[in-house]
Amino acid sequence: MKEIEKAFEALEEKTERDQGCKYCTREKDIQIKFEGEEAGRAWMHNCSDGYGLFLEGEVITYIDIKYCPMCGKKLQEVDAE
Ligand SMILES: [Zn+2]
Repeated sequence: MKEIEKAFEALEEKTERDQGCKYCTREKDIQIKFEGEEAGRAWMHNCSDGYGLFLEGEVITYIDIKYCPMCGKKLQEVDAE
């Protein structure tokens, strides 16, 4: 039974990779954990000049990203292509 569950999980992960995961579709914020403690959260945002990742801890940090750090999906601007 366990093996089947694992297979389903792997399948689900693949589906998420193709369509984007909960994080890059903004369904869920990313929980940041540091040494087992909750340290903050992060979320992706589609800015006018591309995608950015906001990291909220003691301060809010913004970094430009091209790929989802959670599932590896390439993030594209809505009007690209
Ligand atoms: Zn993702």
